[in-house]
Amino acid sequence: MFKALVVEKNEEGKTSAAVQDMSIDQLPEGEVTVAVEYSTVNYKDGLCIGTGGGLVRNYPHIPGIDFAGVVEKSSDDRYKAGDKVVLTGWRVGEAHWGGYSQKARVKADWLVPLPDGIDARQAMAVGTAGFTAMLAVMALEDHGIKDGPVLVTGAAGGVGSVATAILANLGHEVAAVTGRPETSDYLKSLGAKQIVAREEINETTKRPLEAEAWGGCVDAVGGDMLARVLGQMKYGASVSAVGLAGGAGLPTTVIPFLLRGVNLLGIDSVMQPYDNRMRAWQRIAKDLPMEKLEAMVQPATLSDLPQLGRDILKGQVKGRVVVDVNA
Ligand code: NDP
Repeated sequence: MFKALVVEKNEEGKTSAAVQDMSIDQLPEGEVTVAVEYSTVNYKDGLCIGTGGGLVRNYPHIPGIDFAGVVEKSSDDRYKAGDKVVLTGWRVGEAHWGGYSQKARVKADWLVPLPDGIDARQAMAVGTAGFTAMLAVMALEDHGIKDGPVLVTGAAGGVGSVATAILANLGHEVAAVTGRPETSDYLKSLGAKQIVAREEINETTKRPLEAEAWGGCVDAVGGDMLARVLGQMKYGASVSAVGLAGGAGLPTTVIPFLLRGVNLLGIDSVMQPYDNRMRAWQRIAKDLPMEKLEAMVQPATLSDLPQLGRDILKGQVKGRVVVDVNA
C-alpha cells in the first residue's frame, strides 16, 4: 500500500480531495513504475485539486503535474530500477494519475533522467513552473534579447520567480512586475533590479503604442497585462507568453506587431519532445543558481495540498511549493 491525494466527484458534481491508501494494481498502465520523492504545486494543480477546471476527465483522480523520484520497475530498456528521473507535462496529473502519490506508473517516453548536478528535491523546486520559465528564456534568446530591462510579469509566482533568477544570473537587468509590494525584498534577492507595481502597467493609457521600454518579457499573466506590455516593447523585441493568471483575453491591436515588429512567442511545456526537455534541464542545471532556488522554496506534505490548491488559484503562493510525498 502507499499514500496518495485522491480527488473524488460526488453525484452532484462536487469534488473533494483527501489522502488515501492505494495499492499498486490501481495505478494506470505504463512501462515505468516510479517511487515518487517530490512533487510541486502549479496553477494547473490548483484547478485539478479543486473543480478540475476542464482538465480532469475521469474520477477518482490523482493530481500532480510533475514529480521526481527513483525508478522501481521498468519494462522499457531506457530505464532500470534505481535510475533517478523527472517528469513534467504530457497531461500527467490531468488525463493520467500524477505525482501527488508515493508511487506513479507512466509511459517511459514522458520521463527524462535527472540531470547531473540536480537532486530530486531541487528538480521539483524548479518543477513545471521553472522548466517553463527556462523554455521562455530560451525562446527570447532564440529571437534576440534587445538592450534595456527585461520585464517579468507575475514575478512573485512560480514561473516569475524562476524567470527572474535565471535572467538576472545571465546578466540581464530584470524589471519584476508584482501586485504584492511586500515581495519586493524577495524579488530583489532573486536578482531583480527594478520592482514595477502591477497597476503601473495595467493602468497605462491603453494606447496601442507607448514609449519603448523593455528589451524582452516573460509574461505569466496574459489578459490586460500582456496587452499593455506589447505596446511598451522595444523595436523588434519579443514576449514569451506563458500563462493566463490574469485572464485569457488579449485586448490588443495589430499595431505593436506592424509598427514595432514585436514577436509574441507562445510557450508550451506540456508537449515538449525529449531533446528539448533535456536541453532545458541542462540549461537549468547551468544557469539557475541553486541558492536562489532555495530562497523560493516553501515545503509541504500531501495533506497540505487541498489548501495550497486554493491559495495558488488566488495568486497567494510565493515562489515554489515543494511537496515531500513521503513526509
Ligand atoms: P502562480 O500562481 O505561482 O503565479 C502567478 C502570478 O501571477 C501570481 O503570483 C501573481 O504574481 C500574478 N497574478 C495572479 N493573478 C493576477 C491578476 N489577476 N492580474 C495580474 N497578475 C496576477 O502560477 P505559476 O507561476 O505556476 O503559473 C503562472 C501561469 O503560467 C498560470 O496561468 C499557469 O497556468 C501558466 N503555466 C503555463 C505553462 C505552459 O506550459 N505554458 C506551464 C506552467 C504554468 P504577483 O503576486 O507577483 O503579481
